[in-house]
Amino acid sequence: MSQAAEQKLELINSLRHAHSLKQFTLAYQSIVDLQTNQTIAAEALLRWQKSPTEYYEAANFIALLEETGLIVNIGQWVIEQACLQAALWRQHHQPTFRVSVNVSPLQLEHLDFVEQVINALNTANLPAEALILEITESALLRQPEQARTTLTRLKALGVSIAIDDFGTGLSSLSRLGTLPIDSVKIDTEFALHLNEASGQKLYNAIVQLVQALEINFIAEGIETQQQKDIMTRMGPGFGQGYLFSYPSSVEYFTQAFLTQKCLA
Ligand code: C2E
Ligand code: MG
Ligand code: MG
Ligand code: MG
Repeated sequence: MSQAAEQKLELINSLRHAHSLKQFTLAYQSIVDLQTNQTIAAEALLRWQKSPTEYYEAANFIALLEETGLIVNIGQWVIEQACLQAALWRQHHQPTFRVSVNVSPLQLEHLDFVEQVINALNTANLPAEALILEITESALLRQPEQARTTLTRLKALGVSIAIDDFGTGLSSLSRLGTLPIDSVKIDTEFALHLNEASGQKLYNAIVQLVQALEINFIAEGIETQQQKDIMTRMGPGFGQGYLFSYPSSVEYFTQAFLTQKCLA
């Protein structure tokens, strides 16, 4: 076996035990109303503390969780945790605060998925309006009719649906208008070209398309004030990125975005 294959097997083996060893945590990143600069929601992002010195962001291991199917159970834990946290934030800090959770295609295909979401909401005593589920374009394409049924049921409950990494996949635009979608998250890729006229035109076209369908947009990957200014001029919308915050611990997030600053 090659060294790379051996390393991968070892990593998979560690991932299998990570959950029972309580090595997974969630980091939260703010989602900001571009017009008011208010943090209105947080995206939960999975993190793996493999050892005291080894901390991994989701990008480094999500593909392996998908490949092994481990994402189904871990993803359910993510929804439960995020719902409990959102309930605490709403109770103690901000009554309208919302949480946004990434859903893997494998979770979405699971026949019990809607029931699992309902259970997580009930256990946390969280209203469905407080939950946003992020689904990628590719997840919608795998089993389009089943996905549509699932999204329609979630929508009927009051859960919001966002299309993640919008513009990078193969989603058919004709379908976009017919699915119960509340927002699209325009992929980081598009923000990278905002300093070029052609990049701005493309961005603007996407925003207009989305708005014509009465869908909200969330601009991903906002890193500079210049990018933010350009997006803010495109109309009412939301943004996310390092300019506003890095993904951070519950403690830091609460302190930075949800604690009323004391007026001395
Ligand atoms: P995503 O949902 O598109 O999440 C955004 C990713 O971009 C995060 O990486 C975040 O740390 C990073 N990011 C945030 N702001 C900026 C910015 O201004 N510039 C740049 N360049 N990057 C930024 P992360 O946490 O490594 O997550 C990667 C992907 O893994 C996520 O992409 C999502 O698809 C997936 N993922 C994360 N957590 C979960 C989870 O709990 N369940 C599932 N199924 N997937 C997850
Ligand atoms: Mg996401
Ligand atoms: Mg995204
Ligand atoms: Mg992305």
